[in-house]
Amino acid sequence: MQVARLFGPNDLKLIEMAKPVPGLGEALCKVVRAGVCGTDYAIYTGEFSFVKNGMVKFPMTLGHEWSGIVEQIGTGVTNVKLGDRVVGDTGVSCGSCYECVMGNYGKCKSIHPVGTINAIDGAYAEYILMPARHLFHLPDNVSFDNGAMVEPAATALYSVIQADVRIGDTVLVLGSGPIGIAAAKLAKLCGASKVGIAARKDFKLQKTLALGVDVAINTTKISLADGIKQSFGDWGVDKIIEASGSTELFKESLGLINLGGIISVVAFYEKMVDKFDIDRFVFGDVKIHAVGGSLGMYKPTLRLMAAGMLDMTSLITGRYTLSQARQALDDMQIKGDTRIKSMLDISK
Ligand SMILES: [Zn+2]
Ligand SMILES: [Zn+2]
Repeated sequence: MQVARLFGPNDLKLIEMAKPVPGLGEALCKVVRAGVCGTDYAIYTGEFSFVKNGMVKFPMTLGHEWSGIVEQIGTGVTNVKLGDRVVGDTGVSCGSCYECVMGNYGKCKSIHPVGTINAIDGAYAEYILMPARHLFHLPDNVSFDNGAMVEPAATALYSVIQADVRIGDTVLVLGSGPIGIAAAKLAKLCGASKVGIAARKDFKLQKTLALGVDVAINTTKISLADGIKQSFGDWGVDKIIEASGSTELFKESLGLINLGGIISVVAFYEKMVDKFDIDRFVFGDVKIHAVGGSLGMYKPTLRLMAAGMLDMTSLITGRYTLSQARQALDDMQIKGDTRIKSMLDISK
């Protein structure tokens, strides 16, 4: 099978590898779509902190956002069958420790992410091998494109839940990557009275408004503080979802959120947070919640997609074949203004 294999930073080659054979409890899936994620790009360039500290092991195969078709199953697999349309989890747990048995497999100490850190091979390939227990059925009316975006959508859903968004709340999302945009849409679905998104690119802000989000703040044209004043007035913002990866915006949000507010943080940061104003944090009675993945969020996300309430496909701004995977990654840098989600179309 063909694999876009990453041998080290900036060293991606299309190579031929043996098609894996599913063992006990495993399923081999033909990859139909694989999304190109910001994390993939950070691993590819070597900028990711986990590349620098050696936790990303090369050679490896990227790709943790995918949809596909079950092609072959190993013994003991009962939850999927040949021809099933599926999506896969971003982590593979041991399945037998206390946390796994209790269903908290995200807390499994032996978990192996898919296609990222210390990982099993991901979906930048014609086939991916997964334990069948980590597969989810893709509902018939959900396209492979939308299915390949379950992971960012599920992560966004977790960020909204960690921010404890409630009916009537005012919510501001910082950052307009796929997760930020999806979080804004999902906050609206949770019944927030007003949802805003703050970012730097008009193209992405317009895409977010088209999904039914109320207000957009372009922080290259107005300060975040003034933008909040203008858009939210006396209501202010009760909940902030930090999806920009900017330590500056994170610090600023501490001073802008309503008293008793919650900030959920769903990004990776290239630098440490300097001059953190802890007094503001304490007197503001602010809570900061981390969003460490998408555990347990696939099922509700797939249901929202099946119900026609969450269509992420308008965020696909570029399509590539598997042999163009390197191009797809290189374009992440140069097409930043108009790129939201690039998709590898691996098979039909
Ligand atoms: Zn991702
Ligand atoms: Zn475990």
